[in-house]
Amino acid sequence: MNTVPEEKINLIGLNKQALEDFCISLGEKPFRATQIIKWIHQRGVSDIFQMTDLSKDLRERLAKVAEIKVPEVAEEKISEDGTRKWLIRVGEKDLVEMVLIPENNRSTLCVSSQAGCAVDCSFCATGKQGFSRNLSLDEIIGQVWIAANSFGLPREPNSRHITNVVMMGMGEPLLNFEPVVEAMNLMTDDNAYGLSKRKVTLSTSGIVPKIDELSKVTDIALTISLHAPNDELRDELVPINKKYPIQELLDSVKRYVDSCDDKRVTTIEYILIDGINDDLKHAKELSEVLEQLPSKINLIPFNAFEGSNYLKPSGNRVKRFQRYLQDKGYVTTVRSTRGDDIMAACGQLVGQVNDKTRRKERSRNQIKTKAI
Ligand code: SAH
Ligand code: SF4
Repeated sequence: MNTVPEEKINLIGLNKQALEDFCISLGEKPFRATQIIKWIHQRGVSDIFQMTDLSKDLRERLAKVAEIKVPEVAEEKISEDGTRKWLIRVGEKDLVEMVLIPENNRSTLCVSSQAGCAVDCSFCATGKQGFSRNLSLDEIIGQVWIAANSFGLPREPNSRHITNVVMMGMGEPLLNFEPVVEAMNLMTDDNAYGLSKRKVTLSTSGIVPKIDELSKVTDIALTISLHAPNDELRDELVPINKKYPIQELLDSVKRYVDSCDDKRVTTIEYILIDGINDDLKHAKELSEVLEQLPSKINLIPFNAFEGSNYLKPSGNRVKRFQRYLQDKGYVTTVRSTRGDDIMAACGQLVGQVNDKTRRKERSRNQIKTKAI
């Protein structure tokens, strides 16, 4: 009697090794895995029957037990400045966001790792939602697949439209460690997206033991969301600081940098909030605390969202802060706000849907999403 598996295996999140094992389990040669992984991630195929260099018989056998399932896009918006934002449905009730930021000769994709976030930074819209759930590997790499296909199909095998990926969407990536690492491995795998390790960035609020764990499995680019130059202020802005204070965090970053083959300069993110952490005395303290670690500083003027009392500092205050750090010898950039009109800017990602979509949602499953 033929037994049909209850649930088909989703091939989208399988790395080459796992696909090879899968092919062997079907009595096939392991090299089929390379063909399959390329069809999925380089050509953007989601229908097994389109994998024309596999025999018809193999495609039929594959389709019985496997599928390529990508998360559903609930909504897509394009900003006046070309920034695109997708609302992606994950699981029964959650929505997460992903953002694609095109610039002159590059396109940066900002990927979510969790629905909501438990770290609860005081300035972050995602944090204010609370935590709902971790995204699976399929849901994380599925975001890259969707964005890559937005450049048009069929995808040419070597088209590298997405040049950079940053794990800076919703969630704290190091609190969803394994799926995030596995997804980043696919992003850098030449058979899949082929991005350089320097162009895949993980941004973290500073989960110290996980930074050490990360150093054992990868050397992708690491960015630290510092946001305050002393523990008293950071405890307030980034509450995880109470558990892993600044010095412990910087020590773990030093260990990470030491574990990499190349010499690294760490990017430090520093959100500037009017009257809270944007004084010259904070710039001075920041320049002193970072003396121990080769770093460049990315200043992010606070982006407003509903329900927050914080304000964006004036352009002059931002410049003054930047100039001080530059005078101290730090490469210091100010992140330009992109996609503000569609709420796609940093810290504005809450997985919200517009009213029309929201009504559809409600009648569909009668569940209020946590995000709404
Ligand atoms: N949890 C990780 C990655 C996601 S947050 C982290 O915190 O690093 C991505 C970036 O957006 C972080 O640098 C974060 O500090 C920034 N951000 C959050 N809220 C913001 C806001 N309201 N305005 C501007 N940037 C914000
Ligand atoms: Fe979570 Fe990052 Fe937002 Fe903090 S800034 S609440 S860590 S997503």
